[in-house]
Amino acid sequence: MGRRDNKKNRYSNGFRSDEPLHFSEMLPVNIEEEKQKARKLRNSPWWKRKISDGVCHYCREHFKPSELTMDHLIPLARGGRSEKINLVPCCKECNNKKKYMMPFEWDDYLKQLSEIKS
Ligand SMILES: [Zn+2]
Repeated sequence: MGRRDNKKNRYSNGFRSDEPLHFSEMLPVNIEEEKQKARKLRNSPWWKRKISDGVCHYCREHFKPSELTMDHLIPLARGGRSEKINLVPCCKECNNKKKYMMPFEWDDYLKQLSEIKS
């Protein structure tokens, strides 16, 4: 790390401070631990109450509670946690779509849903 190119260095440093945090810089998530937490929450009265409404968080359609799965709004793989605020009921169709879509495709899908409903 020489001081050869001082001017350029200062410029790129100033730039960096404006950048949003990268996921890789966030605290690492113990995925196994979070999965276990999710499993525990799935048996809790809180979750049973949530799915008893029978509404999918994404498409807002009604389902039998047994047809709803637990979904992480922010996936564990991207730094999400098994916290109540990050867990939503999700129908199988949305769950599959979310799994196989790219994040931007999923965003488009959600946008499309909210346009239909409004
Ligand atoms: Zn759905």
